[in-house]
Amino acid sequence: MERLQAVKGMNDLLPPESAKWQFVETRARALLEAYGYREVRTPLVEPTTLFARAIGVATDIVEKEMYTFTDRDGSSLTLRPEGTAGAVRAYLEHQVAGREGHTRWYYSGPMYRHERAQKGRYRQFFQIGAEALNQPEPTVDAEMIAMLAQLFTALGIDDVDVLVNCVGGAEDRPKYMAALRAYLEAPGPDGAPRLSRLSETSQRRLDKNPLRILDSKDPTDIALTAEAPSILDHLGDASKAHFDAVLATLRELGVKFTVDARLVRGLDYYTGTVFEVRGRGPGLGAQNALCGGGRYDALVETLGGAGKTPAVGFAFGVERVVASIPGEPASFAQAPELCLVSHGDAARRFNLALAQELRGRGYRVDVDHRSASMKSQMKRADKLGARFVGVLGEDELQKGILMLRDMGAGEQRPVTRAEVEPALAAARISPTVKQEA
Ligand code: AMP
Repeated sequence: MERLQAVKGMNDLLPPESAKWQFVETRARALLEAYGYREVRTPLVEPTTLFARAIGVATDIVEKEMYTFTDRDGSSLTLRPEGTAGAVRAYLEHQVAGREGHTRWYYSGPMYRHERAQKGRYRQFFQIGAEALNQPEPTVDAEMIAMLAQLFTALGIDDVDVLVNCVGGAEDRPKYMAALRAYLEAPGPDGAPRLSRLSETSQRRLDKNPLRILDSKDPTDIALTAEAPSILDHLGDASKAHFDAVLATLRELGVKFTVDARLVRGLDYYTGTVFEVRGRGPGLGAQNALCGGGRYDALVETLGGAGKTPAVGFAFGVERVVASIPGEPASFAQAPELCLVSHGDAARRFNLALAQELRGRGYRVDVDHRSASMKSQMKRADKLGARFVGVLGEDELQKGILMLRDMGAGEQRPVTRAEVEPALAAARISPTVKQEA
């Protein structure tokens, strides 16, 4: 029989690895909510035209990476390759702009791109992202980047580079694209033409989307564009003032960053500020982009919005962020606070009832269901990393007590049933206990 296995580039997530994911998700949610972002959930499947219009037809994603299929009624649907397009569609569809001055949303979930699967690059991957809609101020861009810097610190990822650039708006870009095209069409200092030496993809992009040539990973393309004109020299006054204000605010907020004039992102909707967080840690390999984002002041209008709705957003890849966090996955798991072990049927039944009561009050309690030896039950409790073990034999059962062993301190004392919860509660606030993330 054919062996069943997951689709290439789509991963299962099992414990204890999932504990590390939960750590990331919990920290990210808490921080996003501290900055006033609220959760939005949109479908995994959207009309194909949404992504073609939002992301741009001359991008890798739309050209070759979308999972597109025909629905039973003949309409073309696509598994979302990113989160912004769906969020903006929902923002328009529910006329959110009419109800609130500005909107801060975050989302979390799987995205799908038919990329060449390799370490750190998957066909199903998870993003956590946010959108600040109807917020034109440069301080919003800076605040978002500062939040990301804070997030990486909170996750224990110190070795990152924050790269910032400005790709200009509709008023600046044509001028820059013309300058870039002229440069690429002119011969290099050695007299040899640049254009014909560019990679096939870059040659194809020269007309439609020359900015993306700066993003090429092809070594010849990189060499040929090393001295290309910089977008930062082609910004109009408004874009320049906005970008300068972003940088000034970042400095005020104490964010470490580098301006990289070659940073252009893989999605066409960006206008103005763009940014990327790159990891330097060993766990990443070539896929070191952890997070990307930027301003997209025209996207809402492109997708049918009535007026100007400037916005800025980002998304980070959960797989890559998890891979950048030091520490064994198991150390992120929440161990039981109490393991109950017993000798004899009556004691086990008592434990089961006690565990049920404590679990109902929110404690993590494990019961050993086996009629195994006390030694083997203790061994299991130890392996689970429980803070306390409650030992109940026939003797204790008759006396109405159980032995509560503090595994950290290596001490044990007899307690009544009513005294168990206060002991667990006290341990929760004691500094020797790993606090909830
Ligand atoms: P993007 O939506 O392309 O701007 O990507 C934002 C972030 O999502 C990247 O910085 C990565 O961390 C992550 N990401 C994008 N594509 C993939 C992929 N194929 N596999 C894993 N992570 C990805």
